[in-house]
Amino acid sequence: MKITFLGTGSPEGIPVMLCGCKLCASSKERLRPGLMIQQDEQNIILDAGPDIRKQIIQSGINKISAIFLTHYHFDHFWGVAEFEQLNWVGLGNFTTYLNNNTYEHLKSIPWIKLKCETLDFNNHINLKGLKIEAIKIEHADYLEKSGYIIRDECRKVVYIPDIKAISDLNLKKCENADILVIDGQYILGKYIDDEDHLGGKELIKKIQEFNAKKIYLIGFSEHWYKKSAKDAEKQLPDNFNIPDDKTVLVLK
Ligand SMILES: [Zn+2]
Ligand SMILES: [Zn+2]
Repeated sequence: MKITFLGTGSPEGIPVMLCGCKLCASSKERLRPGLMIQQDEQNIILDAGPDIRKQIIQSGINKISAIFLTHYHFDHFWGVAEFEQLNWVGLGNFTTYLNNNTYEHLKSIPWIKLKCETLDFNNHINLKGLKIEAIKIEHADYLEKSGYIIRDECRKVVYIPDIKAISDLNLKKCENADILVIDGQYILGKYIDDEDHLGGKELIKKIQEFNAKKIYLIGFSEHWYKKSAKDAEKQLPDNFNIPDDKTVLVLK
């Protein structure tokens, strides 16, 4: 199983548009969140933010096997507009899996018509030996958000960008993953008033409860924290990593 970080940035990405600060100028680019999982010639994409076109082109793939959306916030969702353009050139023939609430939101945009299947919480689908289960994650009160557990016979990957809370039952399901990819937007503390995410010590404590072998934080912003990811990592527990875009993990 091969995992590629298509994007690791905060909602603004790095560099922040119109910002000339030192950190925006000196940091590597961070696109909006997205993960690709490749196994048995399948290319499975988790999240589709506004940078999806660039992310797919950079990844070099020539086929998408399936898309899994987590929720309809801009930075995880607006790639759907790019997929609509693919329909016009006959290359949009893949299924987008999403929860009911995200589907209702998508349906309200009359010019986007994607091939969709709803995947309700605690349901899963099998794609050639990969089991992908949707679980409910608390995030913003006005929307429903999915996290995903991706398993084969011996490996387990959990993907939870953006989290305010998780039930004990769902936490139990996510425990002991080989790889946990999780919301790290406010990992060093909240820099703005945002009730939709955990942050700081509270977030670190919650992440540790997942008991994952390796932890990868996405949503980090050099612009907001005025420090590099390397310097931020030094303030975090040992198995917490802040990956760059295009980081590849191979699970044997
Ligand atoms: Zn900046
Ligand atoms: Zn969100």
